[in-house]
Amino acid sequence: MENNPMSAESERATVLLVDDVPANLSLLSNILRDDYRIQLATSGAKALELVAAGAPDLILLDVMMPDMDGYEVCKRLKSDPKTRDIPVLFVTAQNQVEDEELGLTLGAMDYIHKPISPPIIKARVRNHIALKLQTDALKRLSLFDGLTNIPNRRHFDNTLDNEMHRAIRTQYPLSLLMIDVDYFKPFNDCYGHGTGDACLIQIAQAMQAVMNRPMDLLARYGGEEFVTLLPGTNLEGACKVAETLRQTVASLKIPHALSPISEHVTISIGVACRAQSDPKSTSYLLRRADQALYQAKHTGRNQIRHIE
Ligand code: GH3
Ligand code: MG
Ligand code: MG
Repeated sequence: MENNPMSAESERATVLLVDDVPANLSLLSNILRDDYRIQLATSGAKALELVAAGAPDLILLDVMMPDMDGYEVCKRLKSDPKTRDIPVLFVTAQNQVEDEELGLTLGAMDYIHKPISPPIIKARVRNHIALKLQTDALKRLSLFDGLTNIPNRRHFDNTLDNEMHRAIRTQYPLSLLMIDVDYFKPFNDCYGHGTGDACLIQIAQAMQAVMNRPMDLLARYGGEEFVTLLPGTNLEGACKVAETLRQTVASLKIPHALSPISEHVTISIGVACRAQSDPKSTSYLLRRADQALYQAKHTGRNQIRHIE
């Protein structure tokens, strides 16, 4: 096993076991602990706490527990977008069709009946974990850019929709930066497409490294265009972030022999911040950041511009 990299602790999938009877937990834990990282909870409340602290890949959930039963735990997990996709398997002594139907209706993936059989538990858990890891990989592919490994446009569009709703609801500001590499066509012409790709990767990673608020999102918007969403950040703050990004890219000092404005690769940035009186559409904010970028391009590039 030691030669198998998948068995390294950091690579292991995590299974959360929830049961109010400690003896049941140790039974399950003994069956699964060689293959998975195990978390244990003796109540529904404790289970929800552990899930909030770090989502497991699979939950084995007892149905009958005092205070909060398994159905209630499942209902809560399924109603929160952050925990909705964690598969839940009920482990139960009940074998009424109605109970099973209720659990499945609440969003559980499957039922395992007590008394449990170790080989069956192992096999079912293995199947569900394999499916979960596959789903995670597909989700990642659909939301991250293959070249730069930062969020892609779909990811950004989804987040922008959500953050726009939140900004309207909370009256917090929402800022958006539209970022475009200067003279990138001549860069490709001079150094070749492969070096162009490497340049985009380097720029994306460097910008990502200086974004430090957890809510901030940097995404690749198109070819050599990037976009940044800054929830709760006003125009002044957004201009500061933009200037930091501009300087970060300039300081990479990536040679650009065909740039008329610098010896190195530079970026231009358009900044826009949503005012409470603005239309409730995302397109309005995007359009204004785009207009600011246009100004930055037409007044010399390698600079940031904002629209009041
Ligand atoms: P400007 O300063 O006005 O932005 O000039 P520009 O040359 O950057 O603008 P333009 O939009 O004319 O050209 C963008 C170029 O970016 C076109 C293409 O060669 C390059 N590009 C777009 N996507 C990729 C990519 O994924 N990889 C590489 N290597 N180049 C790309
Ligand atoms: Mg462009
Ligand atoms: Mg460009």
